Amino acid sequence: METSTTQSGTALADLKAMGRADLEAFAGRLGQPAYRGRQLFKWLFGKGATSFDDMTDLPRAFRETLAGAARISSLELATLQTASDQTAKALFTLESGRQIETVLIPDFDPMGKARRLTVCVSSQVGCAMGCSFCATGLMGFRQNLTAGEIYDQAFYMNALAEERYGRGLTNVVFMGMGEPLLNYDNVLQSIDLMTDDDGLDLATRRITVSTVGLARRIRQLADDGTRFNLAVSLHAPTDAKRSAIMPVNRAAATDLTALKDAIQHYTSQTGRGITYEYCMFQGVNDTEEDARRLADVVEWAPSKVNLIMYNPVEGLGFSRTGEAQLNRFIKILVGRGVTVTVRRSRGQDIDAACGQLAVQQG
Ligand code: SF4
Repeated sequence: METSTTQSGTALADLKAMGRADLEAFAGRLGQPAYRGRQLFKWLFGKGATSFDDMTDLPRAFRETLAGAARISSLELATLQTASDQTAKALFTLESGRQIETVLIPDFDPMGKARRLTVCVSSQVGCAMGCSFCATGLMGFRQNLTAGEIYDQAFYMNALAEERYGRGLTNVVFMGMGEPLLNYDNVLQSIDLMTDDDGLDLATRRITVSTVGLARRIRQLADDGTRFNLAVSLHAPTDAKRSAIMPVNRAAATDLTALKDAIQHYTSQTGRGITYEYCMFQGVNDTEEDARRLADVVEWAPSKVNLIMYNPVEGLGFSRTGEAQLNRFIKILVGRGVTVTVRRSRGQDIDAACGQLAVQQG
């Protein structure tokens, strides 16, 4: 790993890990007025500057001071692949040398015009949660991403969307590598950057954070007054079945009873419903009894269900539910008044689909 230091040997501050207020304070510490911090913010997050030399409206002397006191971290694009359905997957190298993946998912109207451009960002390298059906879980946890490293994935894909489709991103989902709520502060800071007028200027309601269901953090989201959407990866409707495929459910602090309390707290505090993500695994969680139990879970709080057609990962031993069983499952849910959508994953020919993101790490 390459680490930049000052002449006195202390590490240079990474400006991309800072938010708006931090940059204003940093400029102040360098003897500059707060508006210099705002100028820095625009260069870093609005224009994607990677060098102080680019910042032509800053005085030369300030730029020289900055070069001696700070650095600008950036993602390095290693590869970019595009699937036959136009889903694009970028592999980025971090300063640590580790790699992450980011996916741009275009959705086209019948005329072939892109109506929705969604980026799926990673929040960690690897993941500690160890879900038994997930390629990322197999890697184990390696590191948290900084707010800048999360933001830069969306910034890059926004530029790619503009280049390919003539318009920027419409949606962001935190469904790539990692458990976002285990990198809580950086994820929330990256969302502040994405929604800032001088950042990507995205509406908060266009952003969805997907969690494995960490009860304490779900409560914190409500208490912190967050405004983005919350999705909970449920994947099984009983403790026995969920614990079998999701180790997180085995602890009392994060089992279904704790999750129910946290979700009820969240929906009552925020006035917003949630989405349950439910990946369909043949013979594991797709029986008619499972559908009835899932409908019981939906009754906990205002919510809807997104059924995901699983993309088998070699060696993990799970397979996708067939169409007939899927239809029986949906019928039971709809009969109980549940709002159901089905997501058929995209980008399968480049392993960009849900649960398929995993990178060989050194
Ligand atoms: S499904 Fe999500 S939470 Fe589970 S191991 Fe994979 S990345 Fe982690």
